[in-house]
Amino acid sequence: MAVATEISEAVAHDLEDLSAEDLFRWALENHGPRAGILTSFQDTGCAMIDLMAKAAPGLRVMTVDTWRLPDETYALMDEIEARYALKIERFEPDRAKIDGMIARHGEYLFFDTKAKQEYCCNLRKVEPNDRALESLDVWFTGLRRDQSEFRVNTPKAQVVDRHGRKLIKIAPLVDWTQQDVNAYIEERGVPKSALYDQGYTSIGCKICTTPTLPHEPARAGRWRWFNYLDDDSKECGIHVAGSGI
Ligand code: SF4
Repeated sequence: MAVATEISEAVAHDLEDLSAEDLFRWALENHGPRAGILTSFQDTGCAMIDLMAKAAPGLRVMTVDTWRLPDETYALMDEIEARYALKIERFEPDRAKIDGMIARHGEYLFFDTKAKQEYCCNLRKVEPNDRALESLDVWFTGLRRDQSEFRVNTPKAQVVDRHGRKLIKIAPLVDWTQQDVNAYIEERGVPKSALYDQGYTSIGCKICTTPTLPHEPARAGRWRWFNYLDDDSKECGIHVAGSGI
């Protein structure tokens, strides 16, 4: 039976020096089913699942299924469930809200304006993500500092406030580089999305994510039609400071 530690800045501070494996063990021992990996199955998330499976099998693996994910992501989920003998918890949008959004604005509203793209992301991603987080005190995420300018100061562990409730958000591979992730996946034969071989460096919903060129930042392929905006435009709201998440 897990005995929950307090959620505090002091606890988060003490976690900063732990390895990914030790962080997963700490979370499972201290928070049990109130801890979990929330991932979209990009390469860092897949590496995290492999590390967790070695160090702390049984830790929850959760995702947001926007109903607009690429076929390759759904295939990868099946592969991961089989390889690690685990069941991925899928948090989905509210059907009535999605039907209403499409009726008013069309299926492809995200092309129209930044506000409509954020509206779609809010219903399909942020709301289900909020529901997933309600079930957690310790949230593991695949953020890395080298993914974008926006993420360069991301701490490994921090206390975040979510609608008045505190939880510890941990990015166990925050200081890994893309090369570190690639080398780990290669060495361990970790399942990863087939889209990486097609030039993708960041993977979200289909249409809203495109391949990138070698000179571009990893998330440049997100919402390309908004490329005139600054780098914050490449966040969907889940990890944006001040979003209350
Ligand atoms: S990434 Fe695109 S399809 Fe997915 S939720 Fe956001 S706007 Fe909608």
